[in-house]
Amino acid sequence: MGPSTSPCRCSSGRARRQRRARPGRRSRGGVMGAAARAGRAPLSEVLPRFLASDDDRRLTALERLRGRMRELGDRHIRPRALEIDRRAETDAGYFDWEAVQAGLRYGVLGLTVPRSSGGEGALALEASLAIEELSAACPGVASVFGAHALGIAPLLVLGGPAHWEGALRATADAEREGRPLLMALAITEPDAGTDVQDPELMRRARLSSSARRIRGGYRLSGTKRFISNGSVARWISAFMPTDPRQPAETATGFLVDTESDGFAVARVEHKLGQRACPAAELHFDDVFVPEELVIGREGDGLAATMMTLALSRGPVGAIATGIARGAYERLSAWLTTAVEAEGLLERQEVRLALAAIVEEIRLARQAYVDAAIELELAGVGRALAHPALQAAGLVPRTIRRRPRARRWASSARARELTASLVRSSTSAREATRSLALASLAKARGADVAMRVTGLALEIAGLGAGPVRAELEKLWRDAKLTHIYEGTNQLNRLQVYRGLCLGETMPAVLPSARRRRPPRFANGAIP
Ligand SMILES: Cc1cc2nc3c(=O)[nH]c(=O)nc-3n(C[C@H](O)[C@H](O)[C@H](O)COP(=O)(O)OP(=O)(O)OC[C@H]3O[C@@H](n4cnc5c(N)ncnc54)[C@H](O)[C@@H]3O)c2cc1C
Repeated sequence: MGPSTSPCRCSSGRARRQRRARPGRRSRGGVMGAAARAGRAPLSEVLPRFLASDDDRRLTALERLRGRMRELGDRHIRPRALEIDRRAETDAGYFDWEAVQAGLRYGVLGLTVPRSSGGEGALALEASLAIEELSAACPGVASVFGAHALGIAPLLVLGGPAHWEGALRATADAEREGRPLLMALAITEPDAGTDVQDPELMRRARLSSSARRIRGGYRLSGTKRFISNGSVARWISAFMPTDPRQPAETATGFLVDTESDGFAVARVEHKLGQRACPAAELHFDDVFVPEELVIGREGDGLAATMMTLALSRGPVGAIATGIARGAYERLSAWLTTAVEAEGLLERQEVRLALAAIVEEIRLARQAYVDAAIELELAGVGRALAHPALQAAGLVPRTIRRRPRARRWASSARARELTASLVRSSTSAREATRSLALASLAKARGADVAMRVTGLALEIAGLGAGPVRAELEKLWRDAKLTHIYEGTNQLNRLQVYRGLCLGETMPAVLPSARRRRPPRFANGAIP
């Protein structure tokens, strides 16, 4: 991305500034107004016709959601994006609660919380479209909301009533009361990043964390690293093995209350981009998690991770698409209005670059929309719409909260039932395919975000004025989408397996195997 490749290098910034605006400038605005809108295609163009025509109400609701998020982004986030980035650059521990408060008023934190827990019940398509809008405003703030949804995801696929009536309802209630309650997901460790996101690699992952079973629950110990929202979340979905020598077989999910004894934030990283979203190292020192907050069955952790990634990688593709669109919109506005941009739109190479950018954005969006639809129609998204789960949601709260109901809900039988509901909703082959499509959307989106932000910087050049700082920020923000939720390399290896080889990956769904009852250290069966 050297300056010499910039299409506008032959005309220096100063020379362009000195040129007077021509009367034709108004029409330049008209042209670019249309061009800027080209990055925001109406959904009827993006969704396959069957969804658009058969489900008009959903389409209308999706457009309304998009409009709501766009308003949040344009009014409350975009104007403060650079300021938040700068404050977090000088103080990595800085967290902008004001941006989260703004999100509360637009219902962002309860978006993916199930309706039965008081939330909006958004699925991957809604979540993806919403986060593209927020990301176009500020990818860092969007990632705060994205990491929150990531923490919720394992509870959607394998959680039980203790999660639905506990953390999820608390999140939705807090939002209504104007108090932010954030969540996070912790799988990465100092010596295991890529490995914990792939069933084969997980078999030989070097995990330092572990969960020890005790009467009434588990004690967690170890370190998690790079955890988005880790320093500000109230609840964290954390994954640890009960036997680190068998990480794949014994990985288990736990919903951790960060106010528990033994939990500590060790440090917050200095980040290249998306600084509004803190990435923290977390220490667990014998943290107690009660039995009812275990996510799924002991040993379901790897499947819960893979199902979570199938749900969340599409939205990462959407974050990346939003970054590219944000760069395009800022560039378009600058080309239209800035004196120093005068004449650039008449250049063929600039027009070609803009057309290529719009092409990239629309294809990236189509990739995450495809992934979301596949997930809903054939992947683990189907489990979320399973009639039995819907029916469970209809059971009145007063009944669900009764001690007997709660005891049953966290019993081994209930967990077994949840796992079998998930298995009966989809097949391992379909789950692999939908994971691969989500990985494709993530990898493609990340590459598009890097290319588009780089191209936008080249077109704007060094003389672009304040917009350059915004484009530079987006370029830094884009790089992170290459890394989190699995690097692009890992995502593409999973695309190869799921789409090129047509393989069925292991552990993409909870196993059918009925596990032997776990034993206490002294050998007693609980
Ligand atoms: C900003 C940010 C936010 C994050 N947020 C979270 C979060 O909220 N929760 C969480 O749990 N984690 C989070 N992570 C961690 C993230 O998921 C990991 O960084 C990522 O999975 C890569 O792991 P690693 O950094 O350990 O790299 P490594 O696994 O050490 O990989 C290093 C390089 O080797 C390549 N590589 C490794 N193994 C293979 C292989 N088998 N085949 C081919 N190539 C391979 C990788 O592609 C990469 O290029 C976050 C990371 C970042 C940067």
